[in-house]
Amino acid sequence: MRDDDLSVTLLDWYDANARVMPWRVAPSDRKAGQWPDPYRIWLSEVMLQQTTVAAVRDYFHSFTARWPTVQELADAADADVMGEWAGLGYYARARNLLKCARAVVADHGGVFPDTRDALITLPGIGPYTAAAIAAIAFDEQATVVDGNVERVMARLHDIHTPLPAAKGELTTLATALTPAERTGDYAQAVMDLGATVCTPKSPTCGICPWRDPCAARVAGTAADLPKKTPKKKIPTRYGVAYVVRRNDGAWLLETRPDKGLLGGMLGWPGSDWNEAPQPAPPLDADWHDLGVEARHTFTHFHLRLQIMTASVSDSTQARGHFMPATDFRPSDLPTVMRKVFDLAHATIECGAGPRYSKRSIDRSPR
Ligand code: SF4
Repeated sequence: MRDDDLSVTLLDWYDANARVMPWRVAPSDRKAGQWPDPYRIWLSEVMLQQTTVAAVRDYFHSFTARWPTVQELADAADADVMGEWAGLGYYARARNLLKCARAVVADHGGVFPDTRDALITLPGIGPYTAAAIAAIAFDEQATVVDGNVERVMARLHDIHTPLPAAKGELTTLATALTPAERTGDYAQAVMDLGATVCTPKSPTCGICPWRDPCAARVAGTAADLPKKTPKKKIPTRYGVAYVVRRNDGAWLLETRPDKGLLGGMLGWPGSDWNEAPQPAPPLDADWHDLGVEARHTFTHFHLRLQIMTASVSDSTQARGHFMPATDFRPSDLPTVMRKVFDLAHATIECGAGPRYSKRSIDRSPR
């Protein structure tokens, strides 16, 4: 089958099977002249980086309800945006989101540029996101290659070179198939095919619009593709999180430095996350070791946090700031800090757990 015929076949399938997404315009509406809002496409693409559609939906609704336009997002307070992003992970995205919104307002009059080349100059927009916005919002003939598309291309052409070495070859193959018309629908169609039919473990080739031309289906290799170079084992790091509550209910929190992991997010005071000796707690108190760890996996390491809790008097001074209970929203915490809170807050309120002095927790690394 020729490349043109492959894209037409897939677009026909998409017309009948497109997933409904809050940021999308249905293919029938698009044919009737309705265009997607570039602000919503950009926001969804940034949220979807490293994150599933299911995890993104609620965040997308919250963001667009609170900040319906790029201008309103650009005017938002940093802390409000970081708080609304909490739990979605990869927090550099939220910081870049604000930078990008402000650049669109300052440099482009509040209107997103309509070409891939111009989009890629904006903060936080890389080649993938620029191509996705250009194709989906403006129908520019830009090729969008994410993990779904790589998998579908590897199978359609029975490519056995492992990823990431195969990326260039798979991008070339994807580019050859990208049509000049209905480019945005086509980009979403390949993603939908990968997400719903050509799935990682059990592709349902029997209902696939590309089952006849698919080389991997014919060869019986579909479920084994794409090949991947085995990932290196990631290390485990250790740290301590100090959860302190004042008698008036306020929580001791700190805003993490802008640069670095969880930059700009709220968190509990704590140690560095490595295997070096632990620093002192943020204040003198009768510390309780919760006896359970908060565990979390980042891209490059696993983290195990010991949790120390304390209740203190209203006059206590400490590193960080006490946030009144009425202002504190656990949902503003990034996921690992939320895990600490979920484990700690019941205990800190009833004061359970073994007691440790400040000195006794200045101990050797595990
Ligand atoms: Fe994927 Fe099977 Fe379709 Fe090939 S036929 S593209 S392996 S679902």
